[in-house]
Amino acid sequence: MLWKIPRDGLDAPGVRAYPPRMPADPVLRVAVPAPLRHTLDYLPPADADAASLAAGMRVVVPLGARRVLGVIVAIAARSALEPAKLRRAFALPDREPVLSAELLRLCLFAARYYHAPPGEVLVNTLPVALRTLRPAGARSTRRWRLGAAAGGLGPQALANAPRRAAALELLGQRGTASDAELRAAGITSATVRALAASALVEPLPDDGSPCVALPAPPLFGSAGSTTQGGATAPALNAAQQAALDALDAARDGYACLLLEGVTGSGKTEVYLRFIERVLQSGRQALVLVPEIGLTPQTRQRFEERFGGVVTVLHSGLGDRERLAAWRRSADGSARVLIGTRSALFSPLPELGAIVVDEEHDASFKQHEGFRYSARDLAVVRAQQCQVPIVLGSATPSTESLANCAAGRFRHLVLPERAGEARPPVMRLLDVRGQPLDGGMCPELTARIGTELAAGKQVLVFLNRRGWAPLLSCADCGWMAECRDCDARLTLHRAERLLCCHHCERRQPVPATCPHCRSARLLALGAGTERAEHTLQRLFPSVPILRIDRSTMQARDAMERLVQEVGRGDPSILVGTQMLAKGHHFPRVTLVAILDLDGGLFSADFRAAERTGQLLVQVAGRAGRADLPGEVLVQTFHPGHPWLMRLLGGGYAAFVGPLLQERRARGLPPYAHLAVVGAEGRSEAATLRLLQEVRDALRRAHPAVEAIGPLPATLPRRAGQHRLQLLLRHPHRAPLHAALDAACTLLESQRAAGITRWHVDVDPQDGA
Ligand SMILES: [Zn+2]
Ligand SMILES: [Zn+2]
Repeated sequence: MLWKIPRDGLDAPGVRAYPPRMPADPVLRVAVPAPLRHTLDYLPPADADAASLAAGMRVVVPLGARRVLGVIVAIAARSALEPAKLRRAFALPDREPVLSAELLRLCLFAARYYHAPPGEVLVNTLPVALRTLRPAGARSTRRWRLGAAAGGLGPQALANAPRRAAALELLGQRGTASDAELRAAGITSATVRALAASALVEPLPDDGSPCVALPAPPLFGSAGSTTQGGATAPALNAAQQAALDALDAARDGYACLLLEGVTGSGKTEVYLRFIERVLQSGRQALVLVPEIGLTPQTRQRFEERFGGVVTVLHSGLGDRERLAAWRRSADGSARVLIGTRSALFSPLPELGAIVVDEEHDASFKQHEGFRYSARDLAVVRAQQCQVPIVLGSATPSTESLANCAAGRFRHLVLPERAGEARPPVMRLLDVRGQPLDGGMCPELTARIGTELAAGKQVLVFLNRRGWAPLLSCADCGWMAECRDCDARLTLHRAERLLCCHHCERRQPVPATCPHCRSARLLALGAGTERAEHTLQRLFPSVPILRIDRSTMQARDAMERLVQEVGRGDPSILVGTQMLAKGHHFPRVTLVAILDLDGGLFSADFRAAERTGQLLVQVAGRAGRADLPGEVLVQTFHPGHPWLMRLLGGGYAAFVGPLLQERRARGLPPYAHLAVVGAEGRSEAATLRLLQEVRDALRRAHPAVEAIGPLPATLPRRAGQHRLQLLLRHPHRAPLHAALDAACTLLESQRAAGITRWHVDVDPQDGA
C-alpha cells in the first residue's frame, strides 16, 4: 500500500533554469505507446499555437517509420537532444487536454511505481475510442430532465401521445437522459423538441455546474409503481451510524478508512448514506467493485437510491458506450461512477470520495501487461485529490490490516448482521476413510436431503470446473497432461473433451490408455460438472443450477439464474468462486464446501489468506434475512490450525496469527516484494537472462535480496518456459532502485526479443 507520493521526476526543476533561445519552439515531452520507460522529446506541430499547448493533450508523432498517438506529459523550454535530432510532431487532434492534470499525475505515478512504460499506461487508461487518431471533439452531449410543467400532468394527459409519454416516463425513472440514450429508447429528437416547447422537459445546464439531478417523483403515480429514485433507506443500527459519522467527519481531506463488516452487516447501506452526503455537497463519488461484484443487484441498489446520476462501467460495454460514460464522468453529469478496476482512471473533476468494495479481492490487481493494483492506486488518487477513501470488506487483506495497525488507515468495524439476520453456524465434516460420491460424503448428502425436504435451498461450493481434474490409467498410472503446460488436463464429460485450464488446449478423450492400451481409464476427483450430476441422481425432482465459467458465458446468464433462485423454490446451486462473491441468495440455508484442503498446503504464502477469505465469503451466502444458516466444510485435515481458528473465532481469530507468521518470516505486509519475470521458448536463454540480472543486482544493490531464478507457479504455459527472480527488501526505496537497474539492463538486452520480460511490484500470485 502506498502513502508517500514522490516528486514528479518528469518535470525536473533544472529544465526551466535555462532561458529559451528566442524565438525557439518549446519542447514537448511525449509518452508514446511503446515499451520505453522514458518520454521522447518533439517539437510542436508546425501550425500549433504555442499558447494552446498543454500537458495531457493527445499528440500525433513520428516514431521510427510509424505515426503514433502519444500524450504530452510536460512542456519544456529546451531538450537535451541536439536541435537537428528533434523531430516535429504531426498534429494535435484536440483543442484541449484529454487527461486532466490530476489524472496525468496519477498515471505518471503509476508508471513510475510499477516500472511500466508511461506511454502504455497513459494510452491504456484512455477509452479505446480515444486511442485512435480521430479527434475526441465533444459531440452533442446534451442531457435532459423533466421540466416544470411535468409535475402537473394527470395519468391520462398523454394517452394519445405514447412517444411523449414514454419520454417522460424514462426521465421520471432515470432523472436525466442524454440525446443518445433517448434515441436508444426509440424517442426522436423531434419528440424531445416538442416536449421542451411545452416545458415538459428541459436541458440540463451545460456550464459544468454540478447538476445533482435529484430523481423526480414517479410521474404517473399509480399504486404499485416502483420506487425508482429516492427509495426509502432502512434505519441504521448503532455500529452503522458510528461508521457513517466517522466517514462524515473525514470528508474534508484525505483519510483512508477500512470498513470491516461481515456479510449482511450493512456495509452497502453505509456507503450509500456516505455517498448521498458527498453528492449533497456538490461532488462526485467513485465506487470500485470486483469483477464479479458488479451484479445487476448492486447496480439496482445504487440506481434506486440515486436515480439517473449513476453511471456504470463494466466489461459488457462496447467502445462507444465506454466513451459515453467517460464523457459523462468528465463533464460532471455522472455524479456516481461504479466500475471495475479500470474505472479508477476515469476523469472526475469534482471527485469527493472513493469507495473500494471487497478491497481484498484479487481482481483489483491486473496480472497482465500493465500490472497494477487498482485498490492501491485508488488510495494514491484519494491522497492526491485530498478526499476520503473507504475500503470495505468482510475479510480485509493483510496489507490493509497492517496499515490500520500502523495508524495509516482507520479501522471501522460493523460487528453484527443488520436487522434480524443471524450468523451461520460452521461445522467440519471429517471425510477421512469415507466413500465420496461426486466429491460428497454420505453425511453431507443426507443433510442436503433434509434441507431440501424442508423446502429450503442449498449451495454446494467446489472451486473446480469440469467433471474430474484427472484422467488416469488404472493399469500403468499414465495421467492426461497438457502438451504445452506443466498441468494436468481436466475431463469435461458433456463435451467429451480433455481441457487445459491454463492454455486453450482441448483434445478428445482417448478410448484407451495411450501408453499401455488398457481400457481402464479412471476419472479421479470431482469438479462442478460431476457434483451436479451426482446431486441430480440423488435428488431427481429438485432443480440444480450450476454456476461456473463454463455455464455462465452468456451475458445475462447470471441475472436469469439469480431471478430463478430468488423465487425461493427448493433448489441446489453448485458452483465455483463465481457464486462466492457479490450475489445474494437469501433463501439458501445450507452451504456445503467440498474441498478447501488444497489451499492449506500450497507453497504460495498467500494461499492461507485467500483460503480463509474464500471460506468466510462463501459462508456469508447462507442465512441472510430471517433464515438461520449452516455451513459444512468437508476436510481430510480436521485438526489443521487454520481451519480450527476460522471455525472457532472467525476471520479475526484466523488473520491475527497469520500476520504474526508473516512478520516472523519477513513477508508482506512487513517486507516489500517485486518479481522480475521472463518467459520464452528456450528455457536456457530465459534462465541466462535472469541470471545476468540477478548477478548485476547483487553487485550493485547488495542490500536487496535477489532470490532465484525460480520456476513460476506454472513453470510452462502454452509452450513458454516461465521463470522469475524475486526481489525483497524491508523498505520500498532500495527495492525500486534495484528495479530501475533491472529495467535498464533488460531494455538494453537484445535477448529480450526472444524472451519476454516483465516487472511485477507487490505481486499477488505465485511469488
Ligand atoms: Zn496405461
Ligand atoms: Zn495447457
